[in-house]
Amino acid sequence: MSHYTTSKRYSDSSATDQSISTELEANYEEIHVPALVIGAGAAGARVAIELRQQGIEPLVIGKRDYGDAHTTWAAGGINASLGSRDPEDSWEIHAADTLEEGHFINDPEAVELVAREMPERIRELDEWGMAFARTDDGKIQQRYFGAQSFRRTCFVGDRTGEAMLDTLVEKAQSLSIPYRENVMITRLLSDGETVSGAVGFDMETGEFLVFVTDHVVLAAGGSSAIYNRHSSRDEENNGDGPALALDAGAELLDMEFIQFHPTGMVGARYGDDWDGRLVTEAVRGEGGRLYNSDGERFMERYSPDQMELDARDVVARAIAQEIREGRGTDNGGVYLDISHRDDEYIRERLPRMVERFASLGVDITTDPMEVAPTAHYTMGGVDIDPHTGETAVDGLYAVGETTAGVHGANRLGGNSLAETVAIAKPVGQHIAAEINSAGVATDGGSKTIAETDRTLSDLMRTQAAEEFAALRRLEDADGEATPETLLEELGALLWNHAGIIRTGEELQAGLDKLAVLQQRVADLAVAGDRTSRSFELAVDVGFSLTVAETTLRGALERAESRGAHYRADYPDVDDEFQQNISVSDSENELALDKRAVGQPSQAVQTALDGHYELDYHHLE
Ligand SMILES: Cc1cc2nc3c(=O)[nH]c(=O)nc-3n(C[C@H](O)[C@H](O)[C@H](O)COP(=O)(O)OP(=O)(O)OC[C@H]3O[C@@H](n4cnc5c(N)ncnc54)[C@H](O)[C@@H]3O)c2cc1C
Repeated sequence: MSHYTTSKRYSDSSATDQSISTELEANYEEIHVPALVIGAGAAGARVAIELRQQGIEPLVIGKRDYGDAHTTWAAGGINASLGSRDPEDSWEIHAADTLEEGHFINDPEAVELVAREMPERIRELDEWGMAFARTDDGKIQQRYFGAQSFRRTCFVGDRTGEAMLDTLVEKAQSLSIPYRENVMITRLLSDGETVSGAVGFDMETGEFLVFVTDHVVLAAGGSSAIYNRHSSRDEENNGDGPALALDAGAELLDMEFIQFHPTGMVGARYGDDWDGRLVTEAVRGEGGRLYNSDGERFMERYSPDQMELDARDVVARAIAQEIREGRGTDNGGVYLDISHRDDEYIRERLPRMVERFASLGVDITTDPMEVAPTAHYTMGGVDIDPHTGETAVDGLYAVGETTAGVHGANRLGGNSLAETVAIAKPVGQHIAAEINSAGVATDGGSKTIAETDRTLSDLMRTQAAEEFAALRRLEDADGEATPETLLEELGALLWNHAGIIRTGEELQAGLDKLAVLQQRVADLAVAGDRTSRSFELAVDVGFSLTVAETTLRGALERAESRGAHYRADYPDVDDEFQQNISVSDSENELALDKRAVGQPSQAVQTALDGHYELDYHHLE
């Protein structure tokens, strides 16, 4: 297996072997760990806790301070079939809803694992101190979320992700799990078959770092921020995880499936800084209604039964169509209104939304919000075995939004936070068992950073040296194109060519434009040293371009419409495409392939045959 490599992600390599080996010996810190967890959102934190509880001391790293990961932005809730409000709910129906809304290209094993594990994971978070909202009789409260048959979404107001990560970080700290802040990984050390570590740099000092380990867990988040209208923080979700995995020899799946959330804030109304930022689905879950500029509650035409709480792809396309056909607001959105609800209820259930809009001069207890679809989530990602986290590369594991499998063609709200913890636990258990059986520091005590002792092979040393040389050249890049400009152009390209509604012609034109952008990487201008924001963005350009190509190529290959992937030239579901599309690196080119999906278990098939469905009118 070859690599998608440094030379493709940055400008051409011209370092000599001599300069490479001098550099590697001169300037880097080498850190030996039994397991390296790249990413400290909910997924990374939960894997690390499990490893520690099984006697392994992993090192967790992230691009930001401890507790500051994209997970903190998750708002509306996390799914588990607790049955607090609707006792007829069950894990089988949770799995059936997930498969149905994933349009049956999810990995049924991953789905069933998540649905089955979640009640226990929620009880565990509760025990660790997460302050879930309660019913009057003290049960964990549950709200409606789109396209789910029952009230299944547990929450902490509309700041569920922040509460969850706070809880996990506190737990990790109580277990003394080491965390190294502000580290950016730029390459995994891999011969395509086996991973041996990772390289990157300290974003505060600029120092180069080599992590030496047989077990690397990628928990580096998704890639929806590569679109220019998106709901993520600008500096998160740039595609680092999938791009690093692909480069190391792992496969990606279903990269064409990008979730466009129906309700992003409208920049023309609230200012550019707010453009695309999420208005949580909890607003609709608590009864919020959508109106067009004619005052019509238009979801009655698109989905009379499920109304505003139909699946995200259905509601997003409906809003896009209203706007396209001239029934949008002057600012290019539609109205989302929850003012018919009691003021106190809104303040209690949606405190963050109330506060955010109040800071912009809007009282959502009396006035509507202006919203339009925004790129929100990547259903595709690294192909893993959900029971172990294993990828196609030995020693490389992945978990969380960086992976594919659970959500298929369309994610249910509340299922992403669920996936992070439900899959992280068995993954942590598996890796711990692997390390323990390999006999590192077999004195019966914990395996700690100091106790592991490995050296880098020549190949890995060369890879690390190549990477450092490439990063040095990037730092010195003095061309014409700033990273901000390239990322902005890439975002617009994706929005225009691989947006909510796509055609083969537009996708092909998008790929042609992408090839031009890829050429312009050679003309990058980086303003500042390795500690600068400009340098971080310059590294992200490489990751984002790689992921963008996988999205465009996958979308072109999938000549049908399914879930979040809507092709105007192939508007129907095609049974031939009830398959996953895999992407791998073959001789520095992307290779696409199709793969059959698995079958649900009999228990879940029975739930599917039960045809459970949300009755929106419960909310009226
Ligand atoms: C606005 C918003 C609201 C949401 N609301 C909900 C909700 O209510 N319910 C729900 O289920 N889901 C929700 N989601 C989705 C959910 O928040 C994410 O899918 C989930 O938090 C992902 O967690 P993660 O641990 O996989 O990744 P993240 O939380 O994104 O963490 C990624 C980590 O990787 C690190 N990292 C990335 N690249 C590198 C690198 N190169 N080197 C080193 N470290 C790196 C980052 O610093 C970070 O620590 C929401 C998403 C958004 C954007």
